[in-house]
Amino acid sequence: MAERQGEPTRNDDAPLEGGCACGAVRYRLEAAPYDTGWCHCRVCQRVSGSGGMVFTTVHLIQYRVVQGEDDVGSFASTDFGTRTYCRQCGSPLTIHVRHQPDEIDIAAGTLDDPEEVAPSFHIYAAEAPSWMPMMAFLPRYKALRPDTRGLKEGQTEVG
Ligand SMILES: [Zn+2]
Ligand SMILES: [Zn+2]
Repeated sequence: MAERQGEPTRNDDAPLEGGCACGAVRYRLEAAPYDTGWCHCRVCQRVSGSGGMVFTTVHLIQYRVVQGEDDVGSFASTDFGTRTYCRQCGSPLTIHVRHQPDEIDIAAGTLDDPEEVAPSFHIYAAEAPSWMPMMAFLPRYKALRPDTRGLKEGQTEVG
C-alpha cells in the first residue's frame, strides 16, 4: 500500500514498550509478540480483579526490564507458573510457565499502546464469570488450547 505523503510511517520494527501503573517498572519487547489471547482462569481473575486478562507472548530473551528491576516482585501463582508484578503499585506484568521455558507472556494492558496487539482466543472460558463480555467471533476453550506449545497434543490441563 502506498504511504500518503507527509504522514509519519509507523516503524513496525520499533520495539514495543510498556510498564506498570505507577511508572516504576518499564520494559521493552525486542521483537513483535506472536500470540495474544484472553485467559479467564481464577488466578487471572484474582490478579486483575476482573473477568480475565489478555496476555501476549514473546521469546523470553526478547523481554527486557529496562527500569525498576528492583521493584519487580514475583510469586508462584500455580505449581507450573510464576507471575511478576510491580512491588510499588501491584500491576501484574508477566507470567512464565514451566511448559514454555523459552517464552514469556506479557499482560497486554501494560503495553504503552495496547492496540498493538489483539486477542485471538479465550482460554479457561469455562471459568469466566457470566458477566464477562466474551468476543463472540473468537474461539473459546474450556481450559488450555489442545495445541498449546510445550504440552502433549490434546493436553489442555497442567497438573
Ligand atoms: Zn508500579
Ligand atoms: Zn489465567
